[in-house]
Amino acid sequence: MTNKIINTSKINYAMIYDIAIIGAGPGGADSAEFAARQGLSVVLFEKNKVGGVCLNEGCVPTKALLHSAHLYTHASQGKKYALSASNVSLDLGKLMSRKKKILKKLGAGIKLGLNNHNVKLVEAEARLQGKEGDIFNIEAGEEVYKAKHTILATGSEAFVPPIEGLADYGYWTAREALEVEELPESLIVIGAGVIGMEFVSFFSSLGVSVSVVEMQDKVLGAIDREIALEVQKAFEKKGVKFYLSTRVTGVKDGRLQAENSEGTLELEGEKILVSVGRRAITRGLGLDRLEVALSRGAVQTDSYMQTNVKGLYAIGDLTGQSMLAHTATREGVIAVKHIMGQKEEMSYQAIPGIVYCDPEVASVGQTEEELQAKGIDYIVKKVPMTMSGRFVIENEMVNGLCKILTDKAGVILGVHLVGNTSSEILVPAVMAVQDGMTLEQLSSYVFPHPTIAEILRVVAMS
Ligand SMILES: Cc1cc2nc3c(=O)[nH]c(=O)nc-3n(C[C@H](O)[C@H](O)[C@H](O)COP(=O)(O)OP(=O)(O)OC[C@H]3O[C@@H](n4cnc5c(N)ncnc54)[C@H](O)[C@@H]3O)c2cc1C
Repeated sequence: MTNKIINTSKINYAMIYDIAIIGAGPGGADSAEFAARQGLSVVLFEKNKVGGVCLNEGCVPTKALLHSAHLYTHASQGKKYALSASNVSLDLGKLMSRKKKILKKLGAGIKLGLNNHNVKLVEAEARLQGKEGDIFNIEAGEEVYKAKHTILATGSEAFVPPIEGLADYGYWTAREALEVEELPESLIVIGAGVIGMEFVSFFSSLGVSVSVVEMQDKVLGAIDREIALEVQKAFEKKGVKFYLSTRVTGVKDGRLQAENSEGTLELEGEKILVSVGRRAITRGLGLDRLEVALSRGAVQTDSYMQTNVKGLYAIGDLTGQSMLAHTATREGVIAVKHIMGQKEEMSYQAIPGIVYCDPEVASVGQTEEELQAKGIDYIVKKVPMTMSGRFVIENEMVNGLCKILTDKAGVILGVHLVGNTSSEILVPAVMAVQDGMTLEQLSSYVFPHPTIAEILRVVAMS
């Protein structure tokens, strides 16, 4: 451990908090409130805005934009639903103002919740200074705070690979794409993962000509291949061009250079959006002072979210595990419970994964590809979403797909859906996967009619 002389004149001796939390994204802010509700004293540090990436440049703003894009599509295609609307247009300026208003309102709600539960919010960058016995010293602003336990929740940032000529040409990450003031005529999206495809959906819905370059041979990363193919086909119908198994090699004379097994290609796009993944933010946190163990650039934890340092926990994107807001929140609860002496292990078996593109994708549990790789025998049950009356009512000329994977005994191992609004109907599937429910058990519940969720019962009984 590195020794450091502590400037005792700045130490806030008044209080030794039960928990100090660094980072007020969904992981940090939710665990702060949860811990405070349990009667623990909590200090929470945030260097930017409460709500973190999720509220300010991730989950929430993307969905605000996608919602308007979805309404725009519906209004433009009103004829399908017996409506006639002329001159349908989307005012980007007003959309951005609405987005800001939403973020402000939700941010204020988080602050109010923290305040109501007496969480001490320190709006400054924090770093670990060291440990004196079992007590952590944390520097923030001009002060040093003391805590019996510390939870690190500093999140992640966009990873931009070193592509020759890219920086000179200029590029967007999600952050810039969310602040767009004027729609480009054309856009190249590098990376067809979840975030990339949500932007593909937004921009293509508004008439931008979109090309997508992806290294893998499919879109949507780890999402079930059959579902991913449905999404790709839906976007191809809308005119989006996909270059799969293709590697970007550079940007030259305003053109994106790429290569695949057929040779080299050049693409023209007014803007380039880079969306190839995110990496944990570990720098400047003082991790080296406590010799905190990292694994592939992220903080390593056990199933209670403990790091290798006693009393020090890490949650959310910083751990590089699942990079989703709801995972961060759950990991925070696990960490706080462990601090309180309750040993509940984190499980990643039933983490829902949603892609809020149009059509939406919702998924939980294992995919066919994962089961095959593990050599697990499985049964596939699938039906088009059009087996739900409500889906037919709301989705003219769209089929969708609902697929449930079980073991030989009928225990549900994975549920994968494509079609609107599958995000809202996934929760019973999450419960089924988490609780090891069988198809028979799932089909024994009474599902309200007519709802899209009924599709789960239909598949279970098929
Ligand atoms: C475009 C986009 C769309 C997304 N959509 C979804 C979605 O629909 N659903 C979903 O589940 N996930 C989504 N995600 C992922 C989600 O945003 C993250 O998984 C989630 O925000 C992680 O939460 P976190 O608490 O770990 O970290 P973050 O939300 O990143 O918060 C970390 C906080 O720590 C602060 N911080 C960092 N260092 C310090 C320091 N030294 N001192 C004080 N404060 C510090 C940061 O300022 C930040 O506010 C999306 C991400 C992006 C980029």
